Amino acid sequence: MHHTAFSTLKLQPALLQNLASLSYKAMTPIQQQSLPAILQGQDVIAQGKTGSGKTAAFALGLLNKLDVRHFRIQSLVLCPTRELADQVAKEIRKLARTIHNIKVLTLCGGMPFGPQIGSLEHGAHIIVGTPGRIEEHLRKGTLQLDHLDTFVLDEADRMLDMGFQDALDAIINKIPNQRQTLLFSATYPDQIQAIASRIMQHPLMVQATTMD
Ligand code: ADP
Ligand code: MG
Repeated sequence: MHHTAFSTLKLQPALLQNLASLSYKAMTPIQQQSLPAILQGQDVIAQGKTGSGKTAAFALGLLNKLDVRHFRIQSLVLCPTRELADQVAKEIRKLARTIHNIKVLTLCGGMPFGPQIGSLEHGAHIIVGTPGRIEEHLRKGTLQLDHLDTFVLDEADRMLDMGFQDALDAIINKIPNQRQTLLFSATYPDQIQAIASRIMQHPLMVQATTMD
């Protein structure tokens, strides 16, 4: 399979420099298929197995349009577990190394509320978290997402398997309708299709099964 360089994308120079320094030379197939649409602001559903590079696909999309001077939450990434949320936050921070003063905050269940509320009072640009805890913060009023412009569901199939449907619905009801929605999943069962058709607008669907 032919691989295309990241430099063919309309990415901010700071992100391209960082990708080069991280030795991310070529896009993986799923990145190649999804990033042009993601960078244009389109809704995208991307299906690909573990290790196909889905994190960087959405991370570069949200980082490229982030305005770091506006210290408010612009992106929300939902993950099924704390471990996955931590991995995603780590990858976003790695890809954002050259963007100064960027704040990525994780909000997951199983962690005490107090420190999370304290962190939220200090503000953030990007939130990565699990649906239950994000929904609780929204319900308590400790999290406001009025300025959200990118909403990412990572491992959407696993989130539904874990029973997060109600939390997802509650979150979706509290975020702006005018936004970009990106949905990543290893599989694409009917339940995901149903959610996607409710919350996404004319999504591009991409599929990649292998890393090469
Ligand atoms: P997925 O979410 O699809 O399971 P990940 O996003 O976790 O996969 O990516 C798997 C690994 O590949 C990560 O360690 C990531 O840093 C690396 N990776 C992703 N895209 C590239 C790329 N274009 N070039 C090199 N490494 C990459
Ligand atoms: Mg992943």
